[in-house]
Parts: sequence; structure tokens; C-alpha cells
Amino acid sequence: MTVTRPSDLEGALAALAEGGALARAGGTDLTACLAEGVLPRGPVVDLTGVAPMGGTDWRGDGSVRVGALTTVAELAGDARLAESYPALARTAGALATPQVRGTATLGGNLLQRNRCWYLRNPAFDCHQSGGSSCPARTGDHLYGVVVDQGPCVAPHPSSLAAALLAYDASIEVAGAGSTRSVPVAELYEGTDPTRDHVLGPAEVAVSVTLPAPAPGERGAYLRATGRSRAEWPLVEVAVRLVCEDGGLVASAAVAVGGVARTPLRLPEVESALAGSVPGGALSPAVAAALEGLADLCSPLPGTRYKVGLLSSTVRAGLLRALGSEEG
Ligand SMILES: Cc1cc2nc3c(=O)[nH]c(=O)nc-3n(C[C@H](O)[C@H](O)[C@H](O)COP(=O)(O)OP(=O)(O)OC[C@H]3O[C@@H](n4cnc5c(N)ncnc54)[C@H](O)[C@@H]3O)c2cc1C
Ligand code: SF4
Repeated sequence: MTVTRPSDLEGALAALAEGGALARAGGTDLTACLAEGVLPRGPVVDLTGVAPMGGTDWRGDGSVRVGALTTVAELAGDARLAESYPALARTAGALATPQVRGTATLGGNLLQRNRCWYLRNPAFDCHQSGGSSCPARTGDHLYGVVVDQGPCVAPHPSSLAAALLAYDASIEVAGAGSTRSVPVAELYEGTDPTRDHVLGPAEVAVSVTLPAPAPGERGAYLRATGRSRAEWPLVEVAVRLVCEDGGLVASAAVAVGGVARTPLRLPEVESALAGSVPGGALSPAVAAALEGLADLCSPLPGTRYKVGLLSSTVRAGLLRALGSEEG
């Protein structure tokens, strides 16, 4: 396997334009995908020396551009990011293990392949590996979606994506001779079962931009897992609350992962949160919106447990964001 180490974006894009080349950032997922046959072996383009993909730049309007090579540990440990985007920093600090967080990058986290065990077993063919069926749909899909959007039933795997969705972030993507901005809300494939995200094989995620935070930001992240460490969540929620001067919630963004092919915002819960009191109980309107989450679900036989789990995880995440956690 050949590995090239370009020092600039043009070199990286040229190397990726060669057929079958694969981008590598931290390598924590790419290495596994190559070993498990999820991706065909080809030349590897190591992005870690590409200068414009690092660093954090705060702009005059208060927004921030975070380089795609920023590690998950750096995201979790940056004090200004944590103050401005608390749900993002808490998500970064909660995922995987310290070793993975120290190596894994923001771009790699967003673009990692899904964790479906059929995809990761070379004995099976499926939509994602050139086949024409989904063995998980009829087989063991315990960790699958509870909001069924299409033929593939593997939830998107990126915890950071849910948090970035709550902050209306977008990804700067470079390809041969062009750049484009992709909102996180449009980064994942809900209905195309052949791929997990919308980037082409010769495109590079260069950075992520988050709009300026509002005064009075509060945030929380919570995950429900089968075991407490080193595991992807069954359901996760990132909550962003913006409070007015008097302290009441003026606006809210609530995004969930682990439930669908794409991270999802929960607009009914968001609008019900307006006027909520930090430190207080959830209002009847919020309780009704949480109950209504069941209507959003279209569970598979093996993911019915996620209907209740979605509501209880979001509820606990909201209480945490409001500082009203129950004992
Ligand atoms: C035990 C364990 C638990 C985990 N738990 C979680 C969890 O709870 N939540 C979660 O989100 N993740 C979890 N992970 C996954 C981990 O976060 C990812 O493996 C990691 O974020 C991938 O980042 P990377 O930089 O190593 O990517 P790489 O492995 O280098 O790349 C991943 C993919 O993205 C592509 N890629 C990488 N960077 C770019 C770029 N800039 N432009 C274009 N393509 C690119 C690569 O080609 C590859 O296909 C866990 C991993 C482990 C081992
Ligand atoms: S199509 Fe999706 S859910 Fe089905 S086996 Fe493949 S990766 Fe898994």
C-alpha cells in the first residue's frame, strides 16, 4: 500500500484524483475499514501535513472556522470553544476513549463509515458494498435506526455531527478546481443506501464553520449506551439553549443521533422549550412534545426499544441543559 503525504491542499486533491485513492486523517476508522474490507485497498493520501486543514480561527463577526484536522481531544479541551458551543465540547469529551480522541479528527469523525456489523463482515454483501439488499433489515439490527428513512438501516455514526447540527454548522469541502459549503444538515444520506455521506471520493473536508454564539448560551450532551465506555451510543442528544436577559429560554436547538441515517433536529421539542425556566421542571408543552416523539419513530422489529429510549434520553438531556437534573 503506497502512502503519499502532501503538504498542501492542491497536492492532496491531485493525489486523491488518482483512481481508488483514500484520504486518511487520524486513521482510527480508515485502518479498520481497510482491515475489514469495507473499503478496497488503494493508495492512501495522508492529510495530516496539509496546513490549511488545521487550527481554529475566530472571525470578527464571532463565528469560528475549525480545521478538519483538529483532534476530538482539542475540540473537547479548547476553553473558548467550550464556552461558546458547550454542547459540542461536551460531545467531543464524551465520545470513544482518550486514546481515540487524541488521534481522531473532526473531519474523520464526520466522514467515518457506519458501524453496521454486516457491512464490516466481508462474508456479507449489501447496498453499501455493491450488493442489492440489506441483510440487517431482515436480520440482526439491534443497533439500527428507529426512524426508517430508506433501504439502509444503519444510523450515521458521528456524535459530533449531531452537536454540529444543533449549532447550524457547515463544512467547507474542496474538490478538483472547486470548493463548496455543505450544511451539516445536508451532509448525510437518508435515502441513498449506497453511501453514508454526500462527499465524493476525490473531495476533502477542509474545515467546519460555526455561526457566532448568542449571549446566554447553555448546552448539554447526553448518550444512552449499552456499556459505559468505548461504545457508540444507542441514542444521543445535543441540546443548545439560548436564554434571554431575564434567564428564560428564548430559543432552543435539539439534535439527536443514533436514531436515523442522518442526525435529526426535533423542531416540536425546540419550540415547546421557549419560555422554559433554567433550574425548573419541564413544562407540560415540553412533556407533550417528548410524548409526541413516538410518532416520529418507525421502528424495526429489533429497535422498538429505541422509541422509549429516544424520549427518555432527550428528556434527561433537556433537564441537564436547564440545570434541573433530577436526583
Ligand atoms: C472504541 C471506539 C469508540 C468510538 N465511539 C465513538 C462515538 O461514540 N462517537 C463517534 O462519533 N465516534 C466514535 N468512534 C469513532 C471515532 O470517533 C472515529 O474513528 C474517528 O473520529 C475517525 O476520525 P479519524 O481522523 O481517525 O478518521 P480516519 O480514520 O482517518 O478517516 C475516516 C474516514 O473519513 C475519511 N476522511 C477523514 N478525514 C477526511 C477529510 N478531511 N476529508 C475527506 N475525507 C476524510 C477517510 O477517508 C475515511 O473514510 C469510536 C471509535 C472507537 C475505536
Ligand atoms: S445496507 Fe446499511 S444497514 Fe444494510 S447491511 Fe448494509 S450497511 Fe448494514
